[in-house]
Amino acid sequence: MLLIFPPVAKPSEPPAGVAKLKAVLLSHGVPCTVLDGNIEGLLYLLQRPVAASDTWTRRAGKNLALHLSALRDPGIYRSRDRYARAVRDVNRLLAVSDRAHDAVVGLADYQHGNLSPLRSADLLLAAEQPERNPFYPWFRSRLPEVFEASFSPRRHRGRGIGNPDPGTEGRTPPQMVGISLNFLSQALCAFAMIGYIRKEFPGLKIVLGGGLVSSWMKRPGWRDPFGGLVDHCVAGPGEGPLLGLLGVRERQQEHVTPDYDDLPVRDYLSPGFVLPYSGSSGCFWGRCSFCPETAEDTLYCPVPPEQAMADIAALTAKTRPVLLHLLDNAVSPLLLRALAADPPGVPWYGFARISKDLADIDHCMQLKRSGCVMLKLGLESGDQGVLDAMQKGIDLELSSQVLRALKQAGIAAYVYLLFGTPAETIAEARKTLDLIVRHADAIGFLNLAVFNMPLCGREAEEYGTGAFYEGDLSLYTSFRHPRGWDRKLVRQFIESEFKKHPAVSAIVKRDPPVFTSNHAAFFVRD
Ligand code: SF4
Repeated sequence: MLLIFPPVAKPSEPPAGVAKLKAVLLSHGVPCTVLDGNIEGLLYLLQRPVAASDTWTRRAGKNLALHLSALRDPGIYRSRDRYARAVRDVNRLLAVSDRAHDAVVGLADYQHGNLSPLRSADLLLAAEQPERNPFYPWFRSRLPEVFEASFSPRRHRGRGIGNPDPGTEGRTPPQMVGISLNFLSQALCAFAMIGYIRKEFPGLKIVLGGGLVSSWMKRPGWRDPFGGLVDHCVAGPGEGPLLGLLGVRERQQEHVTPDYDDLPVRDYLSPGFVLPYSGSSGCFWGRCSFCPETAEDTLYCPVPPEQAMADIAALTAKTRPVLLHLLDNAVSPLLLRALAADPPGVPWYGFARISKDLADIDHCMQLKRSGCVMLKLGLESGDQGVLDAMQKGIDLELSSQVLRALKQAGIAAYVYLLFGTPAETIAEARKTLDLIVRHADAIGFLNLAVFNMPLCGREAEEYGTGAFYEGDLSLYTSFRHPRGWDRKLVRQFIESEFKKHPAVSAIVKRDPPVFTSNHAAFFVRD
């Protein structure tokens, strides 16, 4: 089995999903290799000569090697200006790396002039014309190289699965390629790669999974539009379905630790290895009305805290990370307590829910001593009525206590706000502004988002117009705001009032460009 993580996603750390799948397959005796096409593809594009016609691009090209090595060095995270210049220059080089095909590549984004990742017809077109994808020269040379260990692509054409050509006996040809598709910014490139594999290696089975595919498959009335191209689409955790497709009848239920062995740990754009780890999937709260976890009714599956701690200890000893990134939608209070009681020996950060535990200064001090450098918190609104309407399950007084306790303990708060929900008008949004201004000294970073109505959420029935924003794969529906606070007005408020406040503007400017929360912890480490 070959598992591929396609471009483009922030290249600051290795992909966790494929590392976990690989470990499960290996533990069941299925040989498996992982290819991080994201970091490899981006570095490939950057290393190609660029015909620069402007000063910025020429200067960025001249400094590329310096910028890449600086982003892998802790020193640059002490100077926001140098860091911002390095990131913007690298992003610029990617943006101009392939002007021929109407695509603009970025460190965290992929835009195409005519094709949208929200339209299945466009994804199929991307698959039909892989040579029009900017990453084509990379995957056309790299994929045969990965397969070459087992068989030659041309000789394999049309052969059945598991029937290696004479002369390749003793080696195991991949039977299956799994594509892990998690972000919209990956979709067009993923389909270009699928199209290429389908043409060049027609005997291989292609399985498509990952967070984005799971969300697509949970859309009401989902009908697989990729049937002629992809053999199987998988929703939710991929281990069980993959093992079934690979003919493993008896699934061992023992937990396995993710395996990052194949991944190019020194290539990522971070000052050392960042270890991603999921202590759970789904969310233990699972009630917020705006959240896809709620709308899609995702099951909450925690790794028992003692097992998670053992995984983290084993992975930390093996990979020697500079930072542990907990990927949970919300790290459970039990895991937070386990980390506080038994420090993992590496700085760490993740999402947590505002809770009484975090208002306790002793607990926060313990977390700090255990290496916690930053917690991401969904504060969402400064109005209690709005919070209650979205079933956030937090109260403003508690939020205030948590921010103060974290500040006192020296843990940075990365605060997430959401504007434009059905219960909000400008009056409530101004209360959010007031809350942030009053706590500005306790907020390290801010993420500001405009509400999107999840297609299969409860509110969609009440307010949704049924029209999709952009295409048949959109996960959100257009809606009529019950109080007239529509997206245009919300954006106006954010840009011309909220961000203009000096206290807010100072926080917003601290956010690392492009990498945002993925690099923020490096700016606040002791
Ligand atoms: S706490 Fe976070 S992940 Fe959980 S339901 Fe609410 S928004 Fe979603």
